[in-house]
Amino acid sequence: MHSSLIDRDLAIAYVNGVARADDLLEEAGRLRDEGHGRVVTYSRKVFVPITTLCRDTCTYCTFVKPPGAGGQYLTPDDVLAIVRAGDTYDCTEALLTLGDKPEAKWPQAQEFLDGHGCESTIDYVVQMAELIRSETRLFPHANPGIMTARDIAALRPTNVSMGLMLENISDRLTEPGMPHHNCPDKVPGVRVETIREAGRQRVPFTSGILVGIGENSAEIVDSLLALADLQRETGHIQEFIIQNFRAKADTRMRHSPEPEIPYFVRVVALARVILGAEANLQVPPNLTDDFAVYLDAGINDWGGVSPVTIDWVNPEAPWPNLEHLEAVTRAAGFELKPRLPVYPEYLSDTWIDPELLPAAVDRATDDGYAAIPEPTRTP
Ligand code: SF4
Repeated sequence: MHSSLIDRDLAIAYVNGVARADDLLEEAGRLRDEGHGRVVTYSRKVFVPITTLCRDTCTYCTFVKPPGAGGQYLTPDDVLAIVRAGDTYDCTEALLTLGDKPEAKWPQAQEFLDGHGCESTIDYVVQMAELIRSETRLFPHANPGIMTARDIAALRPTNVSMGLMLENISDRLTEPGMPHHNCPDKVPGVRVETIREAGRQRVPFTSGILVGIGENSAEIVDSLLALADLQRETGHIQEFIIQNFRAKADTRMRHSPEPEIPYFVRVVALARVILGAEANLQVPPNLTDDFAVYLDAGINDWGGVSPVTIDWVNPEAPWPNLEHLEAVTRAAGFELKPRLPVYPEYLSDTWIDPELLPAAVDRATDDGYAAIPEPTRTP
């Protein structure tokens, strides 16, 4: 297998299983070993659902709720309760996940923001990130949806990293009947512009694709190629998440087929080959029973795993406990290491605000991973 694999037609053939999957997996594993050796990382985190209100209506989403049916903001006390619990368990990441611009749709959202002296939800996220930094040892990693240049600049002093999934590069998924119809924040060009702006501001960034929401194999390949192009341009995408769609009972896509594991494994392996040896490639371990298969497909990270909170985006899917995650990783021949929400290669003043960097370095080992006291505490 050669660099010709990047040829779009051959990549599509790999996704479709027309070309030999064995070759693809072998090359993906070789590239992972070349770039990362036999180390697989995870981030010890708490999930902080800042608000479950959103102006969008993605048809697979169970996170978002309307006002009166669970849609709300966490108060500062709620946020503090979560992150202080995380601090007790030596977590290093506060994942701030939320719906996109709820104030543009719901008067109740604007009322909450007015009551907290904020013009926008992003202002409130900035306020909560400052609170987390001042009260705990955790580092915020904000996933607030589409961000302007001003939003990113406001978050950068308190966030060691930020994220926005590309999900898919195809505008077709925004057409009537498709999952992102009437979702202004899911227009691919708008998401690309946020990712690009984060690069301009030198923010270590998380992005990735969601597989199984109605896209075809060409659209998967085009999405991976788009992410590779962005990374070549800016170098700031510190990790790429390849996430498999899981059907949620209370959503319009509840009867949609989930990607079959052999198919999804090929997508993961192809992502490694397209994104290269150095890329940090992640698959969440809580969305597949036998998640060890992704180690054979070239990943080097399990993403955020929490000993304290649930996965609010996939509440039906508990994270493996850390002992199990470590045992599975070790059995496959890898060493599991905790990392900060910023990867070791981005732990520098090129990428992190100079006021924030010393605290991050202080919680890192000499080689940039997270320093977690032993024995780690688990519930
Ligand atoms: S997936 Fe995100 S943008 Fe879409 S409805 Fe859910 S919270 Fe909103």
